[in-house]
Amino acid sequence: EGKIVTIGEILVEIMATTLGHGFLEAQTLIGPFPSGAPAIFIDQVGKLGHPAAIVSAVGDDDFGTVNLDRLKQDGVDVSAVAIHPGAATGSAFVRYRPDGGRDFVFNMRDSAAGRIDATPEAQAVLAEAGHLHVMGSGLPVPAVFGMVSASIPAIKARGGTVSFDPNIRVEMLRDPAGKAAFQTVLAATDLFLPSGEELSLFSGEADEGRAIAALLDAGVQEIVLKRGKAGASHFDRNGRTDVPGFVVEEIDPTGAGDSFGATFLVARRLGKPVEDCLRYANAAGARTVTVKGPMEGTSSFAELDAFIAATPVGAA
Ligand code: ATP
Repeated sequence: EGKIVTIGEILVEIMATTLGHGFLEAQTLIGPFPSGAPAIFIDQVGKLGHPAAIVSAVGDDDFGTVNLDRLKQDGVDVSAVAIHPGAATGSAFVRYRPDGGRDFVFNMRDSAAGRIDATPEAQAVLAEAGHLHVMGSGLPVPAVFGMVSASIPAIKARGGTVSFDPNIRVEMLRDPAGKAAFQTVLAATDLFLPSGEELSLFSGEADEGRAIAALLDAGVQEIVLKRGKAGASHFDRNGRTDVPGFVVEEIDPTGAGDSFGATFLVARRLGKPVEDCLRYANAAGARTVTVKGPMEGTSSFAELDAFIAATPVGAA
């Protein structure tokens, strides 16, 4: 069984411990926490014991080391993470607003993540991938899109599969090149993992049923719609399956979608029934939101089983 491989940014997150707006006055901050949507995703794959690798780049600094140490500890192959002596690992500062919104300051300009490249190590990892998970957040980096588009036909030719979490910032779709990149990936996607308005953005249909039908007609095999605390729904040619979410106190929503997607994918690859895959994925997402820090709530199967046994489920 081949590795699950993803490509994209690694960064650290540093968060304010008080509610408020922005960073215009001094804050009490905690961190650095390992972060970056692709990093959270692949950490969760590793925690579940599935072979995992990430293609990325960090700076030669503590923020890079804190990420590499965590990923290695959780079983992720980081041989294709380049260490750039001339660039810093990026960082994101986050503050939560009283209404549940978030304010960010990103220090990603010229960071190592923008220098992800098709190194020999990256090509070696991609050449043996059994599954490629594409995250939209990384696609604006031309070398990332280049590796994604070159790898997809090769992986499919050897019987592998592709999943896609659009993870979108709407600006990316306004750019014609960005939109074309997303369409290229979508056309090759076996498992599509949208949340909220991403379903209509990608299908061009406002109505949920029509959006699903359009995507299945376009060749997507399976769609899993993430519904936040309401749980998730799975769609394929045979119909739909809805599983409600778990009732938890949300402390920090960052990373829920990434650990959800990783867990659904691994459970599915292990041959579990769709309903069990959704339950495990909902549990992984719910555990993630109960902890401060994007990657601090990733889970093993034993942790998910214990959580499922102990946690009430919301109304369907
Ligand atoms: P993000 O971009 O913040 O990582 P997302 O928008 O991709 O997340 P969500 O639907 O917010 O995806 O969350 C993914 C999954 O995590 C949900 O389908 C659900 O299973 C779980 N989840 C998220 N928030 C909550 C919550 N408040 N309570 C329980 N489960 C949650």
